[in-house]
Amino acid sequence: MIKYKDEVFDEYSICPVTGDIFNAKTGETQNTYLNQGRPTFKGMPVHQIMAHTFFGYIPRYDVHHLDENKLNNSLSNLVYLTHAEHAKHHLSESNLGRHLSKETRAKLSAANKGENNPNYGKHHSEETKQKMRKPKSEETKQKMRKPKSEAQKANMREAWKRRKLKEELLCQN
Ligand SMILES: [Zn+2]
Repeated sequence: MIKYKDEVFDEYSICPVTGDIFNAKTGETQNTYLNQGRPTFKGMPVHQIMAHTFFGYIPRYDVHHLDENKLNNSLSNLVYLTHAEHAKHHLSESNLGRHLSKETRAKLSAANKGENNPNYGKHHSEETKQKMRKPKSEETKQKMRKPKSEAQKANMREAWKRRKLKEELLCQN
């Protein structure tokens, strides 16, 4: 059953693989409609319903499509991000040329060919190569791991348990 903020969603089930929504009693597939390119059910974007149902509801978090495809609402394609992280993500993408015109991209790739490439002809010294090969120290690895609060960890454990249970329940047919 969909556990959305609104109790009305208790009447429905949602498939974690496809994001399809069913009537919990009759099993009938429910119609969704596109709103800003996103499948939406009863005014709620399906990717948000998915995250809230299987990961647990986290207030003020955005739900991001990993592959950028708003139609791919498979649970494996969804992730919670803070609003800041989410904005940064989409900003860096546009900076990376994802939204550049074909013409601009062609110019950029021409500019980076051969001797125009900033790395052309540069050779790393043996010392630098050694450093690059050196595995990361435990300390660095620790730093890279984002610390999680106990509450967050508990939340994730709960979400995981819920997800497993839902998958078992929903994927029987
Ligand atoms: Zn996004």
